[in-house]
Amino acid sequence: MKDIELPRKVLVGDNAIDSVRDVIRELGLTGNPLVIADSNTAEIAGNRVKSDLDSEIYISENSIDQNIQRATELIKGKNIRYVVGVGGGTVIDLTKICAYKSGIPFLSVPTAASHDGITSPQVSLKGKEPISIRVHSALGIIADTKIIRRAPPRLTAAGCADAISNYTAVLDWKIAHEETGEYYGDYAASLSMMSAQIVMYNAEKIRNQVEILVEALISSGVAMGIAGSSRPCSGAEHQFSHALDMICPKPALHGEQCGVGSIMIAYLHDADWEKVKKALKTAGAPTNSKELKIDDEYIIKALMMANKVRDRYTILRGGLSREKAIELAKSTGVIE
Ligand SMILES: [Zn+2]
Repeated sequence: MKDIELPRKVLVGDNAIDSVRDVIRELGLTGNPLVIADSNTAEIAGNRVKSDLDSEIYISENSIDQNIQRATELIKGKNIRYVVGVGGGTVIDLTKICAYKSGIPFLSVPTAASHDGITSPQVSLKGKEPISIRVHSALGIIADTKIIRRAPPRLTAAGCADAISNYTAVLDWKIAHEETGEYYGDYAASLSMMSAQIVMYNAEKIRNQVEILVEALISSGVAMGIAGSSRPCSGAEHQFSHALDMICPKPALHGEQCGVGSIMIAYLHDADWEKVKKALKTAGAPTNSKELKIDDEYIIKALMMANKVRDRYTILRGGLSREKAIELAKSTGVIE
């Protein structure tokens, strides 16, 4: 049986945030809301949403575990009926988990477009053991492009890289299907691939036309909702990024690492890795270890351990030897 979850209302555009109250009314949400933000995103938009909704606000400032515990306690104690996450990936992830645990709906109000987690029914938590949990889809997404356009360029570039990395995620999904018979959904795969292609094609315009990226990331989230897993948007390049998160003292941004991973994974697939690299460069995203500010040794180690990070069949299925990992990173210019 297929179990598809999608957002019901998506608003993308300048000043979309003015419509938060209308969206909530249209969705039929009633009772006490809770806004979740961090100190930075509260200033950007969270406090504004809080006063529009006359609601409580929870400011995320602790470790993820503490945040989850405190916010869910607040939800229970104050009889909160829905949550509105205002922020980047971390805040939205926190919102998703709290809403899921409390059995209430949530709205996503992204202040940056740094990865597809702002719209996906999936949460990836960094830590010693990266975990990916399936949660509910946002009931509504309100993406104010005026706010997102003002986000640091590095975040937008990382969002482009995360969308571009769908390219190799789909290639990995295909071989998993061909070689193991794993479920493969043409519709979800095509939607994900299309998001990657549109971002690659428009990489130059995105800084000014951030709605192109926002729509691509929303489509990625929808692709995951249709597939019922993160498969269409997460292959070996994501395993590589998760591996870096585990071993690097100072990892780069999720999308940045996935983008660089995608160059190398495209090479292994005999796909157009130079196109991936060029698009990342145009989008202003890193394409090598230096730009990621990550030592070559971590790149090599992450490539070698990537296939063990998650139980997911990808082009890295057999694992890479040290020699092969070095050869791959050098052939694609990721290390010198
Ligand atoms: Zn991602």
